[in-house]
Amino acid sequence: VQHNGGNAVCFYTPEMAAAATRRMLLTMHLTHAIERNELHLVYQPIVDRHGRVRSAEALLRWSHHALGPVSPGEFIPVAEESGLIVPITDWVLATAVGQMSQWEDEGVLPDRVFLNISGQQFLRGNLTLRLEELLGRHPSLRSHLGLEITEQAAVRDLKVAVRTLGELADLGIQAAIDDFGSGYSSLSYVQQLPVAKLKIDRAFIIDVPDNPKNNALVRAAVGMAHGLGLTTVAEGVETAEQRDFLVSVGCDLMQGYFFGRPMAPEALADLLRGQGAS
Ligand code: C2E
Ligand code: CA
Ligand code: CA
Ligand code: CA
Repeated sequence: VQHNGGNAVCFYTPEMAAAATRRMLLTMHLTHAIERNELHLVYQPIVDRHGRVRSAEALLRWSHHALGPVSPGEFIPVAEESGLIVPITDWVLATAVGQMSQWEDEGVLPDRVFLNISGQQFLRGNLTLRLEELLGRHPSLRSHLGLEITEQAAVRDLKVAVRTLGELADLGIQAAIDDFGSGYSSLSYVQQLPVAKLKIDRAFIIDVPDNPKNNALVRAAVGMAHGLGLTTVAEGVETAEQRDFLVSVGCDLMQGYFFGRPMAPEALADLLRGQGAS
């Protein structure tokens, strides 16, 4: 029991202690993850209304020899808290650009490869510089790179967000608002941001077309995005019914287990090779 001065008393439950221990353990091991080659990227296809693979999202994986695979849902927050997100994001950027360069040589480079950038990293300011440096050696890749940032991150410091997104756009890098609709969403913010894509959160997709309210929300999000000149991507599409509904409301792109799970780069290349040149 901890007395924090006033009359509030905090109890630390065994669950809280266990969670804290786990976070400490993860932080400790995550510190060495890069040098020990424990990180890798998988790529999930993003398809158009005809089911054709257009882009891909890079998703980070961490497998520790003793802990086994740890989900990004668990280790990304730990990385953000500890500051390890900085070298990790750097690794993601360099690895993805290297992969894209290889895909380009093989003639299987998707239109866009989207990388996730956490809010902290996005608002730091040296992101543009780092990307300029990385892409200096691969100028042709600029128009194939995309970054996903959450609405919350962009809204936290709107001025910095607008400036950074503008700089990225000048480089040819496209930005997408990730998880749109989760958190509090404000249309007035979204229309101020120089982004090209809106990714509709899986939470809204999960029970379409059976839930009339969600149907209306998804339809409205697509209509609004199009009104602002943005392309829409639906996340977490798992069934043909969801796909049909999304196509019927004019959603431009879709992503989810129905079309393909996050996969090794070779598997994505095979998919792209299989569908031939576009
Ligand atoms: P996110 O950016 O919203 O990524 C989409 C998540 O949904 C991924 O989980 C993906 O595997 C999962 N997903 C895709 N299709 C389906 C589906 O049809 N059904 C279901 N149930 N899930 C689907 P994942 O890979 O576990 O990543 C979780 C989160 O971790 C990501 O959410 C993102 O916020 C974060 N993350 C992943 N990689 C990175 C990274 O390189 N950097 C940063 N900063 N964050 C990352
Ligand atoms: Ca994402
Ligand atoms: Ca998302
Ligand atoms: Ca998410």
